Amino acid sequence: MLSEAEVLMDEGKLSEIKKHLLEMRDEVLAESERVYAESQSLGKDGVPDIGDMSSNSYHQEVLMNLSETQRSRVRDIDAALERVDMGVYGLCVRCEEEISPRRMEVRPFSRYCIDCKTEVEKFGE
Ligand SMILES: [Zn+2]
Repeated sequence: MLSEAEVLMDEGKLSEIKKHLLEMRDEVLAESERVYAESQSLGKDGVPDIGDMSSNSYHQEVLMNLSETQRSRVRDIDAALERVDMGVYGLCVRCEEEISPRRMEVRPFSRYCIDCKTEVEKFGE
């Protein structure tokens, strides 16, 4: 069991993680936006007609267009960003133990430690 001081990451590290998470989020959205623009351009002389949409409804459309995997990825990233703000980033949401740093490096939006992840996959949340 780690003491609180050891668990808490310093500000610099956290802002780095936050930046990385936002980049990942942008990547998912950019990919979906590209697919969306392509689908919009079909049958419209090859020109994506997205200019006159308000950026808000455009954003909505892009989100609607996300695949289930992409949507859950964005949700995971948003949840991770929230945990950064709440100061509980890197802690398992189930058992509240620290998630191994290596796991967080591979999947920075992990919510569960390996043990809980395995159980959640077997028995559900
Ligand atoms: Zn756990």
